[in-house]
Amino acid sequence: MEKPIPLNLIQQFEKVFIDEKSWDSAVAERIRTYFPVDKIERVVQEPFVGRGPELSPEEFDRSKKNIFVTTFNGQFFKRCPGATQKKTLTCCNYYVLNLGSQCNMNCSYCYLQSYLNSPVMKIFSNIDQALSELEEMASQHAHLPYRVGTGEVIDSLSMDEITLYSRQLVNFFKKYPKWSLEFKTKSDKVDQFLDLGPAQNVMVSWSINPPYIIQSEEHGTARFEERLAAAEKCVKSGFSLAFHIDPMIWHPEWKENYAFLIDEISRRFTPEQVKVISVGALRFQPEQRHMMRQRFGMKSLVTSAEMFPSEGGKYRYDASLRHEMFQFVLKKFRDHNPAWNLFLCMETPETWLNSFEQTPMQVPGLHDYFRPLPKIKSENSDLASAVKI
Ligand code: SF4
Repeated sequence: MEKPIPLNLIQQFEKVFIDEKSWDSAVAERIRTYFPVDKIERVVQEPFVGRGPELSPEEFDRSKKNIFVTTFNGQFFKRCPGATQKKTLTCCNYYVLNLGSQCNMNCSYCYLQSYLNSPVMKIFSNIDQALSELEEMASQHAHLPYRVGTGEVIDSLSMDEITLYSRQLVNFFKKYPKWSLEFKTKSDKVDQFLDLGPAQNVMVSWSINPPYIIQSEEHGTARFEERLAAAEKCVKSGFSLAFHIDPMIWHPEWKENYAFLIDEISRRFTPEQVKVISVGALRFQPEQRHMMRQRFGMKSLVTSAEMFPSEGGKYRYDASLRHEMFQFVLKKFRDHNPAWNLFLCMETPETWLNSFEQTPMQVPGLHDYFRPLPKIKSENSDLASAVKI
């Protein structure tokens, strides 16, 4: 029997607007079954229209508390935006599948603050179309190691107790063992799909930071221990793992706190269970600073950080500090076990060479993540919308 939607998740939302085109979809039916009637409204268009081109901090906050269930009318399956900025970033071959947008958690550094301009969180009801796009691609290239992730503009799992989309995706990827799926999350919501394991080509990954940073910057997310406990459940059920130590955030005790994180991962997991560990440092678009200061004040380690414009336009820490942070993580993991598979995501080629002394294609174990693969049909047309990340 399907698991009900937990009350504490329902209570996070003021309202669910259901587009009349989506009214009879499976996800809308589920919402209508479990949400109180007075939280549901049937609509013919996106709510809260009539706003300006950008969201104010108040509108952004409101967008986290109101859901709009609707259909997505474009191509679901797209290449990772990092892969489209070849001159300034070194990124992996990665495709994204967005089944909604916005997030019900609230990290101070979240890039969605400068990326989204929709006044509501969206859940797309037409997952069948997404699956048929995947099917078309997979039937042509079943033998190639395509990697697909669902956590670009919405957390892969934090809303999954509402949608249960993970179940359809896991079942799909089990048919294509060369392809891999990544659920990227800061939640601990995994129980709803564990019974479908084992599925080694489904990787459940956690963005992880030391408890101190989670406490001060990652509001509403699962705590450090909750994330690692959920990861242990995934291993037991036959899923593979990844960790993203990203964004690393400088603070006076950063070495001690990141050392604790690395010790915990090394103590509780093996390099065989964790396919990859990516590392990145704090970065954001210049226009995000105002929004972050308005929403989190100057006490945040993010809003008060000393940042510099970098090639590509984002603010980053000074290059030598980034290098020191990446070297620290790399060395600490390697001291535990040289077999850990580490890479830098969304970083410049110079940082790669300074930190790893080789390019991703030369790092053992990372070849498949960076090997160019045939382009998919939608790639050219979607570049313009993707480069903002
Ligand atoms: S969990 Fe991810 S998407 Fe959600 S607020 Fe934090 S950074 Fe943004």
